[in-house]
Amino acid sequence: MFETLSDRLTSVFSSLRGKGRLSEEDINATAREIRLALLEADVALPVVREFISRIKERARGEEVSKALNPAQQVIKIVNEELVEILGGETRQIRFGKTPPTVIMLAGLQGAGKTTLAGKLAKWLAADRNTPLLVAADLQRPNAVTQLQVVGERAGTPVFAPEPGNGVGDPVDVARESIEHAKRNNHNVVIIDTAGRLGVDTEMMRQAADIRDAVNPDEILFVVDAMIGQDAVNTAQAFLDGVGYDAVALTKLDGDARGGAALSIRHITGRPIMFASTGEKLEDFDLFHPDRMASRILD
Ligand code: GDP
Repeated sequence: MFETLSDRLTSVFSSLRGKGRLSEEDINATAREIRLALLEADVALPVVREFISRIKERARGEEVSKALNPAQQVIKIVNEELVEILGGETRQIRFGKTPPTVIMLAGLQGAGKTTLAGKLAKWLAADRNTPLLVAADLQRPNAVTQLQVVGERAGTPVFAPEPGNGVGDPVDVARESIEHAKRNNHNVVIIDTAGRLGVDTEMMRQAADIRDAVNPDEILFVVDAMIGQDAVNTAQAFLDGVGYDAVALTKLDGDARGGAALSIRHITGRPIMFASTGEKLEDFDLFHPDRMASRILD
C-alpha cells in the first residue's frame, strides 16, 4: 500500500535536495505538491487541509536544526505529522478488570469481521490468553459455519446457538457467551456481529442491543481499507449508530492508496488498533503509526 503516495513524496523531497534554505515560495510549492499527493491517495479533504497547514507552519517556523539540510527537515516534519495523523502511539487492548474481557466487532458485511475475529483470537492465544469466539451474526445462514471454520483454523472454541433451535437471538447468544466464558475460563470473548452490505438502521440497532447487553470493554469497528473514502463515511455512520473505541483496518494489502488509513483517525477521533494485511490468519498485527509513516516515506 501507499505506493503512489510514497513515490510522489519521494519526488517532492528530491526537488528540495541541494537547496541551502527554503524560501516562502519553496515551502508553498512543496506544500502544494504534498497536498496533491494526499488527495490522489484518497485522503479526506479536511485531513489534507489540516495536514498541509501544519506542515507549512512548521516549515516556516523556528525549529531550524543545524544538523539537517532543508530537504531533511521537511522529511522530518512530514514524518512526524504522518505519525500524528495515524494516531501517534500504538493503541493496546484494554483488558477488563475482571475476566472475561469482552471485545465486540462491528462493521459492514464483507469488511472482514469473521476473518479478523479468528486472527484476533490466534494473536491473543499466542500471548497466553484463552479466547472464545462468539457467533452473534445469525443473519446469514452460513455465518455461524464460517466462524466455526475460522475458529478451527485459529484453534479457538466457538460459542454458537445450538443447531435446530431456530435462528436464535443474537443478543441472547452474546449474553450467554459471557456466562459460558466464565464457566470455561476464557479470559477474552470476541463477539462477531451481523453486518449488511450498506449502512442500515436495523443492523445498527442490533449491534447497539448487543452492546447494551454485554457492555464490551472494547468495541472494534472493522472496515475494509479498499473502499477508500467510503470507509470514512461508514466509520462516521457506525460512530453515530453504535459507537466504538477503536478501528481495525482490513485488506491493507489491496489498498494501494492508503486514504482510509490516513483519514479515519482524524475524522472519527478513534485510533486504529489493528491492521489486517491478507487472508491468512497470520496477516495481522497491532497498527503502529510510526512504522506506517516510515513505510510511506521509505
Ligand atoms: P465479514 O462479512 O465482515 O465477516 O467478512 P469476512 O471475514 O467473511 O471477509 C470477507 C472476505 O475478505 C473474505 O474473502 C476474506 O478472506 C477477505 N479478507 C478478510 N481480511 C482480508 C485482508 O486483510 N486482506 C485480504 N486480501 N482479504 C481479506
